[in-house]
Amino acid sequence: MFDSITGSIRNAVNKIRHQDDVAALTKATAELKKALLKADVHHKTTKELIASIELQTKNSGIGQDSFLRALKSELTNLLTTSGNQGFVFSSTPPTTILMTGLQGSGKTTTTGKLANYLKIRKKKVLVAACDLQRLAAVEQLKQIAAQIEVDIYFDDNEKDPIKLALAAKEKAIKEHYDVLLIDTAGRLAIDEELMLQLKNVKDAINPSEIFYVADALTGHDATKTATTFKEKIGIDGVILSKYDGDTKGGVALSIANQVEVPLRFIGTGEKMPDLEVFIPDRIVSRLLG
Ligand code: GDP
Repeated sequence: MFDSITGSIRNAVNKIRHQDDVAALTKATAELKKALLKADVHHKTTKELIASIELQTKNSGIGQDSFLRALKSELTNLLTTSGNQGFVFSSTPPTTILMTGLQGSGKTTTTGKLANYLKIRKKKVLVAACDLQRLAAVEQLKQIAAQIEVDIYFDDNEKDPIKLALAAKEKAIKEHYDVLLIDTAGRLAIDEELMLQLKNVKDAINPSEIFYVADALTGHDATKTATTFKEKIGIDGVILSKYDGDTKGGVALSIANQVEVPLRFIGTGEKMPDLEVFIPDRIVSRLLG
């Protein structure tokens, strides 16, 4: 998956040929720095990582093993942000999740994937089609819901996303759903009007959590927009979509470190089962090859 960064990390490790060779460690960290920056890891994240790895390697005696151990532990630490992991149910059902993100990020597909994930775990799930911004989004969610056999709330005559979301929530409460997933309006870029609309939906619905779907293929932009959503709306988790197509691998590190919101799931393909709980160890193993 991440052939280039994995290869570069190996090159960095191979710079250290002898024990306690400080000059070689400097060369190795320089190589690692280049690899991380090339993989779209934010420059601040890279700087912090390199400093910690260097210190940890020196403290445990310079060598290939200690360098790799330091690298593994620092990458895992970085990806282990405090907060929830995977899906968390609220004490009073329905657990209500607002699904947010830029248009094309994979928000509607991910709403379906998450519904499917919960259905497999025997939960009663309702998805609500409140993305009235993209014409095809409601139809797309209807098709996905039919495919995975999950209930959907929509109202083709209702143009107000707040009223739609409230009606969906009322249905979810009345009919004892465990989870309500609300697909909200996507947008091409950060847009003040749509941000305000989303904020109003949030205030009306009082969701258990807000998930931001970030497209791994957009590199640094994914980190920037997630930060803006965090500041303007408040987000509780990031789902990194299209991880299967991400050849660089750095965006997860940057989001964890710069946005400081836990990564909850990764999207690993276009199909409904292609969703995995984000587990730091597993991601680090993939990065290190
Ligand atoms: P939305 O506008 O954010 O609702 O985006 P969509 O859900 O329509 O997704 C946009 C495109 O991304 C579609 O072609 C999806 O099949 C694709 N997509 C979504 N998630 C993933 C993923 O994890 N991996 C891959 N390869 N494609 C994905």
